Amino acid sequence: MQKFSYHTHTNFMGFDGRNTAEEMIQKAEEIGFEEIGISNHFIYHPNFKCNDDKMIFTDYNKFEKMVGAMVDNVRTASLKSKIKVFVGFEVDYFPSKQWCDVFEKIRKNIEIDYFIGSTHIMRNDEETDLHNFYHYFYGEHSLPDEVLQKYIGNYWKNIAEAIKSGYFDFIAHIDVYRIFKIFDHLIFDDEVNNLLDVFEKYKTPYELNTSGWTKNGVQHPDNNLLISLRDRGVPVVVNDDAHSIDMLGQHFDKAEELLSSLNYINRWKLEK
Ligand SMILES: [Zn+2]
Ligand SMILES: [Zn+2]
Repeated sequence: MQKFSYHTHTNFMGFDGRNTAEEMIQKAEEIGFEEIGISNHFIYHPNFKCNDDKMIFTDYNKFEKMVGAMVDNVRTASLKSKIKVFVGFEVDYFPSKQWCDVFEKIRKNIEIDYFIGSTHIMRNDEETDLHNFYHYFYGEHSLPDEVLQKYIGNYWKNIAEAIKSGYFDFIAHIDVYRIFKIFDHLIFDDEVNNLLDVFEKYKTPYELNTSGWTKNGVQHPDNNLLISLRDRGVPVVVNDDAHSIDMLGQHFDKAEELLSSLNYINRWKLEK
């Protein structure tokens, strides 16, 4: 059984996770983890409209301050830890130069151990109309199908571009929006096949994220993707995406069973 998770969240921003970094680390020790990575959200883009969402930043200076404070918080918590603690971020990637410049600046200014390439946004090509899947689902969700086809197509392309950027240690919950059944009638075979080609070329690791099983029984990624990625020689890592101490290591036994039933032996671990 895998004895670590690199995708976990804390309550440092006052929401999102339910526990402090200290509590997450302590619980990880209790359940026999050998190391843990804390990876709060890193969501910045000047074109976000939802200024009421405190997790999403449009102001660079505020954002850099928050990232620095989160890193300090985890580093301080790790001083008392008996296990290895890494500080990472679950980064919402965007391909535009304006976003990449900001990412590179922060990466230069603040010491961060690893980055998870994540996409929670569907959008237009210009990155001027951005929709977080969660907001869209719980809000009006009124975009017509032809727009959704384009915007979610860009979601898949965004993951491929994230891989090509070389910024990321691994890729999070590849097909995350499938937990929202309202998109099930849309087909993205071309985009998915293109993404698989990119994975095959770059061999960037990706996660089997066990939190979908906890939330509503949906597996990320689904078996088709798992098998396709296995056949292309792409390494996998199991993560709980824990937002509370109870979720740490949750369903890791089920993940092991699944991976062994698929004879998936190409596993990934952070080497630091
Ligand atoms: Zn996520
Ligand atoms: Zn997460």
